[in-house]
Amino acid sequence: MQPETKFESYDPRFDALLRPDSTLLWHCAGSAWAEGPVYFAEGDYLLWSDTNNDIMWRWSDAEGQSVFRQPSHHSNGNTRDREGRLVTCEHGRRRVSRTEPDGEVITLVDRYRGKPLNSPNDVVVKSDGTVWFTDPPYGILSDREGHKADQEQLGCYVFRFDPRSDELTVVADDRDKPNGLAFSPDESILYVGDTGRSHDPGGWHHIFAYDVIGGERLANRRVFAEVEPGNPDGFRLDRHGNLFTSSGDSVQVYSPAGELLGKIMVPEASANCTFGGPGRDRLFITATTSLYSIVLNTRGVQSP
Ligand code: MG
Repeated sequence: MQPETKFESYDPRFDALLRPDSTLLWHCAGSAWAEGPVYFAEGDYLLWSDTNNDIMWRWSDAEGQSVFRQPSHHSNGNTRDREGRLVTCEHGRRRVSRTEPDGEVITLVDRYRGKPLNSPNDVVVKSDGTVWFTDPPYGILSDREGHKADQEQLGCYVFRFDPRSDELTVVADDRDKPNGLAFSPDESILYVGDTGRSHDPGGWHHIFAYDVIGGERLANRRVFAEVEPGNPDGFRLDRHGNLFTSSGDSVQVYSPAGELLGKIMVPEASANCTFGGPGRDRLFITATTSLYSIVLNTRGVQSP
């Protein structure tokens, strides 16, 4: 049975993002914690991670749901690089991997200063090909979504990795549990979610904004949004710079100034979302057990 489509609108700018046929569709269940959706225009299909079940799923309108990769090494966030290759955070191997055109999965990066990463969580690729990712410890805190292990990094960093030089740089060391991340449409701002509240009732559940300096450094940190209820586990932006984030009750939509414009209510706690569909106007939502989508009157910025 399809869920009821419900919105909470706090601003006319939210209503303008909806179409008369904007209906929340449920597509399939079976995940324990659905995360990391990534869309492939060629083939019109979506992949996502079922982190705890150690599976990556594939779904399309035409073919429904099937297993894409098992084991997935407890994959989490996914994206595509500028050549369209799948880039994946893997808790199990504590690495960021890339899937080559022949299907081989190679390690992009798995160590910093000679020691294993914590458990890369979410990843984006900038237009210059550099790979930016977060490294909280969720995959090593227990065997539930990875393999329990000691943390060897001194902190939970946001990294920038340059595949051309293999250079790995810490761009932010001021976060507790950095999680989702995304660039503004012109890549002048990097948004980073901090989900410290997951293990500390008084912890962060906020999205921070940083200015991107010279395309490779961050400065001028400020709170962009306080997400309530739940956590900003993952988010994406549309072409106007509006930010669509997961939360405990909905996909919440924030203006470029950080104003909460409205909510697309989702029956389950959402973990992440991504724009897809041939027109880039269909928001796919991974929410606990299930995959949902809704067509909107806007388009995503992430590419390809
Ligand atoms: Mg995440």
